[in-house]
Parts: sequence; C-alpha cells; structure tokens
Amino acid sequence: MQCVVLAGGLATRMRPLTERVPKVLLEVGGRPFLHHQLRLMAEQGVTEVVLALGHLGEQVEQQLATSPPPVPVRVVREAEPLGTAGALRNCLEAGVLDERFLLTWGDSFLPIDWRPVWRAFTGEALMTVLENEGRWDTSNVVFESGELKLYDKSRAGAPAKAFRHIDYGLLALDRRVVEGLPRGRSDLATLFHLLSREGRLQGYEVRHRFFEIGSPQGLADLEQHFRAPVLVVLDRDGVLNRTVAHADDPRDSPLVPSEVELLPGVAEAVKLMHARGASLAIASNQPAAAKGKTTRANAEAVHARVLELLGPVGVRSHLCWHRREDGCACRKPKPQLVLDAMAEAPGLETWFVGDKHTDHEAGRAAGVRTALVSPASGDADWVGASLPAFVRFLSALKGW
Ligand SMILES: [Mg+2]
Repeated sequence: MQCVVLAGGLATRMRPLTERVPKVLLEVGGRPFLHHQLRLMAEQGVTEVVLALGHLGEQVEQQLATSPPPVPVRVVREAEPLGTAGALRNCLEAGVLDERFLLTWGDSFLPIDWRPVWRAFTGEALMTVLENEGRWDTSNVVFESGELKLYDKSRAGAPAKAFRHIDYGLLALDRRVVEGLPRGRSDLATLFHLLSREGRLQGYEVRHRFFEIGSPQGLADLEQHFRAPVLVVLDRDGVLNRTVAHADDPRDSPLVPSEVELLPGVAEAVKLMHARGASLAIASNQPAAAKGKTTRANAEAVHARVLELLGPVGVRSHLCWHRREDGCACRKPKPQLVLDAMAEAPGLETWFVGDKHTDHEAGRAAGVRTALVSPASGDADWVGASLPAFVRFLSALKGW
C-alpha cells in the first residue's frame, strides 16, 4: 500500500514559523510533525511513502537521512510551486506512482484506522468525508445515503444546507486519473469536483476528527491531543488473558487461578500505557459463578491473579457477575461497566478494547471508540490481532 504525501506548499498561514523551517518539520509532541505522520502510516500498513516536496525540501531530505523513517520514503522535488494536482502529475512523471495509491496532505494527521478505507476503494477515486456540523472548516461535500454526491469548495453547486460533510484528508486514486491531469500548475480540488459531478468519486464516511497543522490553532490542537491522557477500558478474557477450553465452552473464562495465563506481550503493552499516563480499567462479564461452574471465591481469585500478573499499573475493575437471564443493568452489551470506568476518569478520550461484538456494542453505546482484537468481529474503530498491536496503533496516534 503506497501513500503519496503532498507537502510542497508554501505554508503561508504558518509564517513566520515556516519561513525557515518547512511545515512538515514543525515540532509537535517533541518531534518533527513528519515523524508522527510517517509512524502512523507505518502502523496502518503503508509500505512506501512518496513525499512530494517543494519549499525548503532539502531540509526534509536531510532530516530523513539523519533520522531513518519507519517506512521507506521516496522524495520527489518540484522546481517551482505546481499546486496539488501539478505536484501529483510531477510524481507520475518521476515514475514513482503505483497503479493505485492513497493520498494525503503534508499537514494532515488522521487518527483513524486507514486499512478499511483502502479495502473499500473499488473505483477510480475515493474521498474520506466527515460529518462537519460546523466544527471545522467550511463543509464542502454533499454526502447522502452512503454516497458522495458532490464535492464543491465553492459550494455553488447545491443549496448551502446540503453541504454537511467535509473532506477528511485521506484519498485513494487510480493512477489513470493522474494521467489525465494537465502538466504545470493546477489544483486537485478541480479534479475532485469534476469526478464527483460525473459520479466517479466514491465517498467513505469516517467518524472521528482530523488534525491539521496548517494554522497555529491546528498545531496547538495536535499538541494538546498528544498531551491529553487517554482512558483505555479493557475486556478481560481473550484480550488480557487466554480463554480456556472447557467441556461446554471452547473459549471460556479461567475457572481457577491456575488456569490464568496472560496473552503474549500483554503485560508489556499494559505497562507501556501506564507509563504513558493512560488510565486503565477492566470491564468484564464474569457469569461463571452464577452459572454454578465455579465458586464466587474462585472467580474472585481468578481476577486477582490477572491483576497480579499485570503488575502495579493501577488497573481498576468493573465486573458483572450476573447471567444473561438475571436481567441486570451491568452485563455487556449494556454500556454500564464502561460508563462506570469513565466516571472514574472523567473527560478523557476513551477506547474500549474487546474481543467480541458485544464489547463493541457496549463501547459504542457508551459513546467511546472501540477496538477489537479478533479479526472476525467487524465494525469497530480499529480491528487487529492483539492488545499489543492495538497499543502500537495507539502509540502512533498519541505520539508516544
Ligand atoms: Mg472477552
């Protein structure tokens, strides 16, 4: 998966900061912005970055030479400002574009899972969009019933109230579209406008905000995002510790302390989150004692053993001891356990990490971002193989 990053602009809104330092090298979270951007891309499965540079590009090349990036980077320089479309056409002329590739801007930081966007890309061009509700820049996309109807920066092509979405900053393109671009200076906004009018621009709706360092406020927002602590609520069985095969359930909870075994890398991952200031909590259904499969004392000893193996990382526990038929208020997929964890760490950006769809449902109902460590479990904000993999993603997201 190749990603083209257009970073050749003059960054006039960021002067005087960008008179001597290119925008991608502005410092945020204690490192150059480009470092965070490349790290996030590497974590998303991007295998090559094409970096289109102009203004002060030599400094960026020097930085890449002295501090090796986490993903291979090919630099394409433009001799004069070509605009976004001209810069992309310049990459084509340089012979570096894959047949299909992702595209983003040199000042965008997009803290979502990029892989489903790439998987959804089936046509010639795709634009990610976000319901704006007047929160950020002017809305410029008409997106209805899952379809991108119009992208129009001028907003002349539809009634103002139809523009409820904004382009998010992550796109996907087929190289043939670039082959149709004119040489010389031009803007991609024109291309995407035309593609949308011809029904050739696929839309993909994302749910979470973007960051962009194109203005001093945007840079301050990203700095704040990196600094802000996060709350990570964890399901227990299948996320922290192995499930155990018992006669009636191949993926059961441990029923006695001797059956407790942490999954590989979990202790280190939890320790890292704790070291980075994350608040940690467990939200777990534990009906085994109520079902008569073990004693309550054993079930409590099992939980104590999990906490002991995690070490002194300040994990708080929120457990539901009931069976489904008890009709309690706490059993997931109800959100109560997650809400209780949130009440102890109010106001924090929160993730809920589980391994079942009911975990995802509980997280969504609590209004937090969800991650699933079981690839079969679908529609979460992040889906991957394990808690350590999620923590690598979270680290890239938070600039850790
Ligand atoms: Mg589980």
